[in-house]
Amino acid sequence: MRYRVMAEAYQQLEEASGRLKMIATLAELFRHTPPDLLTPVTYLCQGKIAPDFAGVEIGLAEKLAARAVADAAGATEDRVAASLRRTGDLGSAAEHLLGRRGADGHPALGVREVFEELRAIATASGKGAQAHKISGLARLIRRASPLEARYLVRTATGKLRLGVGDATILDALAEVHAGGRAQRPALERAYNISSDLGLVAATVARGGATAVERLEVRPGNPVRPMLAQRVSSAGEILRRFKGACVAEYKYDGERVQVHRRDEEFLIFSRRLERITDQYPDAIKLLEEGLRPKRAILEAEVVAIDPESGDLRPFQELMHRRRKYGIEEAMRRYPVGLFAFDLLYAEGHDLTRRPYPERRAALAEAIKRSDHLRMATQETVHTPEELQAFFEQAVTDGCEGVMCKSVAPDSVYQAGTRGWLWIKYKREYQTALQDTLDLVVVGALHGRGKRRGKYGALLLSAYDPANDAFPTVTKVGTGFTDAHLAEIFERLAPYQASHRPRRVDSRMEPDIWFEPTLVLEVIGAELTLSPIHTAAWGRAQENAGLALRFPRFTGRFRDDKAPEDATTVDELWQMFQRARARNRKA
Ligand code: ATP
Repeated sequence: MRYRVMAEAYQQLEEASGRLKMIATLAELFRHTPPDLLTPVTYLCQGKIAPDFAGVEIGLAEKLAARAVADAAGATEDRVAASLRRTGDLGSAAEHLLGRRGADGHPALGVREVFEELRAIATASGKGAQAHKISGLARLIRRASPLEARYLVRTATGKLRLGVGDATILDALAEVHAGGRAQRPALERAYNISSDLGLVAATVARGGATAVERLEVRPGNPVRPMLAQRVSSAGEILRRFKGACVAEYKYDGERVQVHRRDEEFLIFSRRLERITDQYPDAIKLLEEGLRPKRAILEAEVVAIDPESGDLRPFQELMHRRRKYGIEEAMRRYPVGLFAFDLLYAEGHDLTRRPYPERRAALAEAIKRSDHLRMATQETVHTPEELQAFFEQAVTDGCEGVMCKSVAPDSVYQAGTRGWLWIKYKREYQTALQDTLDLVVVGALHGRGKRRGKYGALLLSAYDPANDAFPTVTKVGTGFTDAHLAEIFERLAPYQASHRPRRVDSRMEPDIWFEPTLVLEVIGAELTLSPIHTAAWGRAQENAGLALRFPRFTGRFRDDKAPEDATTVDELWQMFQRARARNRKA
């Protein structure tokens, strides 16, 4: 298969006007893809060469890529720089420079070799790696057509940015290989338990919907976490669970998913990044205390006061987010592990077993010690029992409780915010609302003291049905100078020259950003708004929901991907609940 076919599909995707058109374009591409190439083609459509959790990142520095472009196009580096300034994107610059020279006489590029070369570029390390990367990319560009060069450069620099979300790719795969988009849930589950779109593609191409349904969790592939709904009264929680549930301490730490393959331990964060190196002490605890040799377990890592043994708040774990000085951080900020679920043990996928069975298996699997424990829990039958347990949890330094279904259908719903888990937090007790986790999609220039920084940030929620990021609010308070500097630095690489595809906004900020950074904000209330587009048209024609008086809480939600931000459905539920409360009052 020629790379040209992909480049043309990319171009159509960039020009596509809506999601349906994108699905159709991708479906066409997948139809033309031989089965053995479907995995690489899927990764390439994501702008990647491997699933995120594999830790093989492509992002070649722009400076190095520019040298490759100069070399391949026979242009000086100054000319490349000038073209980059004019077009605002190195891919377009390469396309432009090659446009003059043409690519005649070179053998056509194949998808397989492009993929292999990009992989080699990404993994080159050690002495001479830079030179290897540059010459590898130059080799590809030399044989590329101008259009191919545009996408090769964007892919190699990690900036393909087609605005195609994973959900859209799943739809297209379902259409081509599973008999229609009605099968999308089966593919979604497979993706949720494997986090590998290439694997899902290969599986569905081989055996259709049946094969993806049979896919099981496996140590090494992170499982998307099961999430909880929120409810603000003990009575309602018990009604939802038909009179009985398990209540567990909700620890204020970092969620981790531990994978063990014999001697090898891997720790994944809530957003499925490898964070194994941050917690050597947690691994030591598990080496001593985890019985199964192959397992996937979930736990909350909590900072523990070295003197008193008390639980410390989440913020202290931030000291562990570092590459260097882990030893010192480990001494000053020791952690404990509170295990709360077991998804796999010794060859058995447990995700389809009810929660009480998983919990019993977890109890078997763990040899408890001072710092390796099971989440404290109790079975409750009345609102009074639940309330008493909740208060005990808060006294012991927790955020509240997680209530979990014990019904026969209480399976582990990977990647789903269903009603099998309900969180009941301290904040719900007061007038204060729960916090929202929102994605930065734009900024306004700062004035006065904030000149040269951002004055306010435009924030979006996530809309899974449309794979879009509609705006909800503009926030300018709650930021210290240090926050502003950090935000500026972190957002700079994600500046976009125009509104990114998936951002749904009626406002035009000074600067647009690709959705990446998630911030925690708190606000006074949700109101109808003609400007913000979240839950557009649901409460009223030509109005969306807006968060009033938002304030940044100081918490960067680095543990969340943009698609993990608060969803429009959640906003809608909060809005309706508040309306019901007001009516009662
Ligand atoms: P989300 O609901 O999207 O995870 P969040 O990260 O803001 O949002 P919280 O409101 O803090 O979530 O509630 C869920 C989180 O609570 C889990 O992801 C997990 O990190 C943590 N947690 C603490 N104790 C438990 C427990 N016993 N069982 C499950 N999760 C727990």
